[in-house]
Amino acid sequence: MLTRFAPSPTGELHLGHAYSAVLAHDAARAAGGRFLLRIDDIDGSRSREDYVAAALADLAWLGLDWDGDPLRQSDRLSDYAAALDRLRAQGLVYPCFCTRADIAASLSAPHGPSGAIYPGTCRNLPAVERERRMADEPHCWRLDMARAAALAGELAWDEAGQGHRVADPAAHGDIVLARKDAPASYHLASTLDDAAMGITHVVRGADLVASTDVHRLLQALLGLPTPIYRHHALVCGPDGKRLAKRDAAASLKSLREAGIDGRRLAADLAVDRLPAGYSLQNP
Ligand code: GLU
Repeated sequence: MLTRFAPSPTGELHLGHAYSAVLAHDAARAAGGRFLLRIDDIDGSRSREDYVAAALADLAWLGLDWDGDPLRQSDRLSDYAAALDRLRAQGLVYPCFCTRADIAASLSAPHGPSGAIYPGTCRNLPAVERERRMADEPHCWRLDMARAAALAGELAWDEAGQGHRVADPAAHGDIVLARKDAPASYHLASTLDDAAMGITHVVRGADLVASTDVHRLLQALLGLPTPIYRHHALVCGPDGKRLAKRDAAASLKSLREAGIDGRRLAADLAVDRLPAGYSLQNP
């Protein structure tokens, strides 16, 4: 069994991250497997080295040891580009020149599991116009979801302890796979990394279950294996809302600095026991 914890160094980790890391770590250790660490630092404008260092310190404080060197998404850009090339060669992605404002202004942009569904403005641009605009307009790359979903056919994954779950990627519409400002989206990078790392069990929050619909599709299109998934309940704060990076009181750094015993906290989280005021909830 190979599991991983994959923090984005865009803020301090909180109790929810600790819960996720403990579950992934303990699952691997209980099975005599490996627990890997990945730094999801693809977003160059928001990622910070001091958050990377803080995350490593948090894990050490919790007593969670990882195997090997942490993998960094910023070291894997050529793999992401190669995967995008493959999808491009299959005619499954297209350049999109729309701005956020263009999309927001479109009346036909209903919401899907990952935000506004792209109305498809750039999907069928004439080749000549596409070439001309690509030369001097910033653009992202979108998946032609209808084509991709039709090509892949019916898809499912195994959810630990719950059997088969049918994937519904089409509900997301034409998602972005490479951004104007980053060479791969979360969906593309995470799917490729899990495969490259040989992850057998992805343990992550239930807030990402809809993303798994998309990841399962990308696995099918790129010929990658499908891990088993465990989407766990989310840690909520005293206000009943799930924790966010801005909730300073729940940050591991603040607990660490308040003298809390990290190993004891990890042992409690492993049996779903949370500090007073916090609770686990399924979205
Ligand atoms: N880096 C992502 C996050 O911090 C997690 C990615 C994943 O577990 O797939 O939300």
